[in-house]
Amino acid sequence: MEIKVLKSILNANDQVAEQNRQELTRRKILTINLMSSPGAGKTTLILKTIEALKGKARIGVIEGDVSSDIDSQKIGQVGAPTVQINTGGGCHLDASMVNEALKNLPLDDIDILFIENVGNLICPGGFDLGEHLKVLISSTPEGDDKPYKYPGLFTEANVLVVSKTDLLPYVNFDMPGFLRAVSGINQKVRVFSVSANKEGSFKEWADWLSGELSCRSI
Ligand code: MG
Ligand code: ZN
Repeated sequence: MEIKVLKSILNANDQVAEQNRQELTRRKILTINLMSSPGAGKTTLILKTIEALKGKARIGVIEGDVSSDIDSQKIGQVGAPTVQINTGGGCHLDASMVNEALKNLPLDDIDILFIENVGNLICPGGFDLGEHLKVLISSTPEGDDKPYKYPGLFTEANVLVVSKTDLLPYVNFDMPGFLRAVSGINQKVRVFSVSANKEGSFKEWADWLSGELSCRSI
């Protein structure tokens, strides 16, 4: 008699990711895997979110970079707990790196955890970290063709943040065309537009995020 094992067999990264997610869920820490190409504004989004949610949500940050602690220093300066991971050449974070970083964060004092992935639009999408939400940033100077060139991350993202919208008059970026391309591959993605140079421009995103924190049954 043949017995078929239907349970999916998780690879090693997915097993650690699942452990991370269970721990983070048990602690009710809403966890975000933040991805984009280099320089699109991941650290800026985190800093602006910390500012916008001051007094409403306590934010912790895991900073992933190939080298340096420049970004974690910026986060530390505004008083948020942060751990730097240097991948030493690696182009993405994996679940065991995050597992180690979690041991060095004050998890009892964190409501929202940002994991800033290495700047790269390709492989970060292939490695589950144990997050609850995948947030992708696309900046206007990068051009409007990214959903066609890197469909993987655009397909998987729960949230898409279009950044540097103050540059729209100067760059070759057709916003309606870009949004059509995105909805062609991902109908469920939630889209926000931001600019660090426009007062209050992160409010809509931050309000949505704090709403997710209270209504999501993580
Ligand atoms: Mg950064
Ligand atoms: Zn990689």
